[in-house]
Amino acid sequence: MTIGVLAVQGDVREHLRTLGRIGVTGRPVLRPDHLVGLDGIILPGGESTAMWRLMTRTGLAASLQEALASGLPAFGTCAGMILLAREITNWPETYFGVLDIAVERNATGRQVDSFEGRVAANGLGELPAVFIRAPLVRRAGRAVEALAWLGEAPVLVREGRVLAASFHPELTGDPRVHELFIHMCRKGER
Ligand code: GLN
Repeated sequence: MTIGVLAVQGDVREHLRTLGRIGVTGRPVLRPDHLVGLDGIILPGGESTAMWRLMTRTGLAASLQEALASGLPAFGTCAGMILLAREITNWPETYFGVLDIAVERNATGRQVDSFEGRVAANGLGELPAVFIRAPLVRRAGRAVEALAWLGEAPVLVREGRVLAASFHPELTGDPRVHELFIHMCRKGER
């Protein structure tokens, strides 16, 4: 199994390291041809607007959009969640739009308001969760399953083959959310 990590910007190395820790091959994805043969793709934390700008320049955005439409499993963390969301409540653009949620960007405040907490996730137990200018889910479609919450807001959601977290499982060394994603990629064996 090979899992791609979108590598135009953001915490790419941390995701690759987490994949390595659970014995899964990770591949940085910088160009459209890097998508060939992947079993899933991770969209990292970072800056969604910067990632989008860099991806559209190289044609990677269009190729990835196509791959997602044909069912490539995807896992977005923080900025990655924003890239996957159907709607961004406080931003004029949307990006891939393959996950039926509306997110508010920067809903946990500024960089200095970053915090680490613990969230209880259905089926996974209690997880350490780092929130850095995190998006929070303000609406979720009926097909979306919420697996963990911060107060009223879902912070770990799944819809079909798409998984997204408001927080950064790649920064805490706890591989359980990545393991869940790998399980989703296996189930979808194509
Ligand atoms: N606020 C960032 C964005 O809008 C996301 C922050 C993060 O990924 N830590 O893309």
